[in-house]
Amino acid sequence: MVTDVIHINELHKVDPVFGQLSFDNHEQVVFCNDKDTGLKAIIGIHNTVLGPALGGTRMWQYKNEWEALNDVLRLSRGMTFKSAITGLNLGGGKAVIIGDAKTQKTPELMKRFGEFVHSLSGRYITAEDIGMETADMDLVRDVTPYVTGISESRGGAGNPSPITAYGVFMGMKAAAKYKFGSDVLEDKKVYVQGIGHVGEALVEHLSNEGAKVIIADINEERLQVVSKAYGAEIYRGEDIYSEEMDIYAPCALGATINDNSINKLKAKVIAGAANNQLADEVKHGAMLREREIAYAPDFLINAGGIINVYAELEGYGKTEIMRKTENIYNTTLEIFTHSEVNNSTTHNSALNIALDRIEARKKEANK
Ligand code: NAD
Repeated sequence: MVTDVIHINELHKVDPVFGQLSFDNHEQVVFCNDKDTGLKAIIGIHNTVLGPALGGTRMWQYKNEWEALNDVLRLSRGMTFKSAITGLNLGGGKAVIIGDAKTQKTPELMKRFGEFVHSLSGRYITAEDIGMETADMDLVRDVTPYVTGISESRGGAGNPSPITAYGVFMGMKAAAKYKFGSDVLEDKKVYVQGIGHVGEALVEHLSNEGAKVIIADINEERLQVVSKAYGAEIYRGEDIYSEEMDIYAPCALGATINDNSINKLKAKVIAGAANNQLADEVKHGAMLREREIAYAPDFLINAGGIINVYAELEGYGKTEIMRKTENIYNTTLEIFTHSEVNNSTTHNSALNIALDRIEARKKEANK
């Protein structure tokens, strides 16, 4: 055990960035430090072939710098595929600020961070993520135009969560069409796990369509509010994964499809908002396929949020935002067909289509 630790530490010393497991040919990784404000941030630019690298800034108390670096590498790569599969002219990027957002985030720190973003001349465009609020993006906007998710009064596109929920609803309908032969969700038993910003809006769509919605959350107050508002049943059981259901919608945490849950799952469709739902993309993707559970890839169907902030850059309005988000239905169906034809998991199909789009653009640019 001790030997392992030494071994890992030695590896880190030899290849501290390019040798990281999460490193996947990222174009640029920028370490930002400011003594006066206490800012310690890392900006990861994974790929800019399709456009500037857009992705949120996360402020988190990482256990150590390796954890922060791995997070930014992993998340920025994810953004490349999310934008590519959605058909946006954006690359993938992300930033992390090391620290406690509740106690260490100051206006000075945010502005200093904004100056670092500005120094990249638009190769990276930031937005909100965990630990950030619209007001923080407004502070960044004071020093750079390379930011989205600002207040509506300053030209921002507003709260992304209802748009994200609409995209998830579209992806779910497409998965239902593939699995059940109809995209009508009336009378389908749908478990929504996590009824926060996105989950609640999804429950509303589902209730309007007459689905039998069962909600689960660790927050009792949320359960009461959402149950009352939409007539959804509250889940009081011990093990949601073992329940009989048509559709499982993970809208809380990632990695809920894992070694413990996967063999218990009785759902026929999985479609939810949470990021990184598969604990192991390859292994669990393949297991879902074997068990004929129709999995709508998370990074595709939860792209409503990025479609919403992209509107700030392109200057399009709500109608176009909704049209692009609605198109998640078509793309999801395309992924199911591609996965069947190519005998691959839906996750891999989505990744491959995204990669093809990037490669085609690269070729075009090199002509
Ligand atoms: P949120 O924080 O508003 O809601 C999350 C909810 O999950 C909370 O009500 C929380 O109590 C609940 N929860 C936490 N742990 C739980 C558990 N173990 N079991 C059941 N419930 C639990 O977050 P959100 O903005 O609604 O986002 C939900 C998910 O979707 C997140 O994974 C987020 O990364 C992802 N996502 C959100 C957006 C967006 O536009 N907000 C966009 C893309 C992806």
